[in-house]
Amino acid sequence: MTSSSLKYSKDNTDKRLDYNSLRQLKEEAYKNLKKRVLKDDAIGINENGTFYLKGDYYEKQLRIALRNCGIIDPGNIEDSIATDGYKALADLLENNVSGQQIVDDMTRANLRGRGGAGFNAGRKWAEALSHEAPHKYIVCNADEGDPGAFMDRSILELDPHSVLEGMAIAGYAIGADKGFIYVRAEYPLAVRNLKIAINQAMEKGLLGDNILGSNFSFSIELRLGAGAFVCGEATALIESIEGHRGMPRNKIFRTAHKGLFQMPTVLNNVETLANVHMIMLNGVDWFRSIGTKDSPGTKVFSVVGKVLNAGLVEVPMGTPLTSIIYDISGGIKNNKKLKAVQTGGPSGGCIPASLVESTTVDFECLESLGSIMGSGGMVVMDEDDCMVDIARFFMEFTVEESCGKCTPCRVGNKRILETLDRITQGQGSEKDLPYLKELSEVIRDTSLCGLGQAATNPVLSTLRYFENEYISHVKNKR
Ligand code: SF4
Repeated sequence: MTSSSLKYSKDNTDKRLDYNSLRQLKEEAYKNLKKRVLKDDAIGINENGTFYLKGDYYEKQLRIALRNCGIIDPGNIEDSIATDGYKALADLLENNVSGQQIVDDMTRANLRGRGGAGFNAGRKWAEALSHEAPHKYIVCNADEGDPGAFMDRSILELDPHSVLEGMAIAGYAIGADKGFIYVRAEYPLAVRNLKIAINQAMEKGLLGDNILGSNFSFSIELRLGAGAFVCGEATALIESIEGHRGMPRNKIFRTAHKGLFQMPTVLNNVETLANVHMIMLNGVDWFRSIGTKDSPGTKVFSVVGKVLNAGLVEVPMGTPLTSIIYDISGGIKNNKKLKAVQTGGPSGGCIPASLVESTTVDFECLESLGSIMGSGGMVVMDEDDCMVDIARFFMEFTVEESCGKCTPCRVGNKRILETLDRITQGQGSEKDLPYLKELSEVIRDTSLCGLGQAATNPVLSTLRYFENEYISHVKNKR
């Protein structure tokens, strides 16, 4: 793990903005961006003056977290300011809005963690606010590691200021003066653009000491993760930032109470933080009017596999899965039949084609089918894919990434993989099926952290919906 500490230079004092100069700069920057956009056939301007990406693929989406991606130059903070970047933070500071008010609004908005757990972000903030401590921290989890997932990467590469502003607002709300972004070192462009964005925000007085002339100070450091999947788990990530081996902690305290350096810590993922600005600017009722009652807002999915148009899709929660696969992503390649959709990354489950029609993308529906939202990975499979091979692929990944701290995950997942190896090599027996199910349930119920608890989801869901494929493997032995 390496760190990048970015220091504010006193030489930049004259470039620092206050509330009025931020408003003036916004006017100027908007004109410049509009001039550029008018020459770009790929970008349109709405009646209210906001920008959008043209084309069916984009116009069928509702892009809130991805609102600026592909439109602004991420290396130029003025583009971000042109699209109201840092306005939400400035409004809160200028109007002396209390931390309690912000936390109450966030709780009412019910922005559920987009990293996978789906916990109300406002409740986390409320707990961190409620504890007195000499220091408090905001940590951005940018350790996206699901195979095929690139939601967070794209936001960091294309609109890093949306995340920095979200962190600063969270810091102001709970009384933190320091934030860390834990980002994968394998994302060099995201790291580069974050460094540039942090430096520019410091120069403009939008991060650092006395932001916009207020008495609120907040700085952000980067921490580069070395690529361990388990470091996406909150406590393992915190251990890694502290300079220890990235292994999950026993959860005696919640991180919002005792997290980084045993201080109250709010840990949110990239997409969660990218939503904060929009909730503060447009209001809780606006946010709650999108999505479903229990899962408000939108979700970004990275749709990959056998679809015609692979890419990032942001839609309101509760959108039918068929809309994502057929209307937006163009349907299945080569006129093949859809077989299943795997959601939630390696810890997710496989939804069979027979249920896709009635599936909506929200926390409740996906969980009821034995899958999860996860951070938004979505792999589409066609009639040629073997579901036992798919389960084996994800188990191999999990075994590789298990940190080894607890026995069910370290040993149990290995036994599962060995059994799947036997079955896929034509050496399995019918006794393997109940054994796989029982062991998967034991691992789910007894593992220490989320990685182990969800590791066997691909096995359990394929056994539930595609048992015939397992049976055909064991009956057609070599
Ligand atoms: Fe480590 Fe797996 Fe146990 Fe989590 S469940 S602590 S990854 S061994």
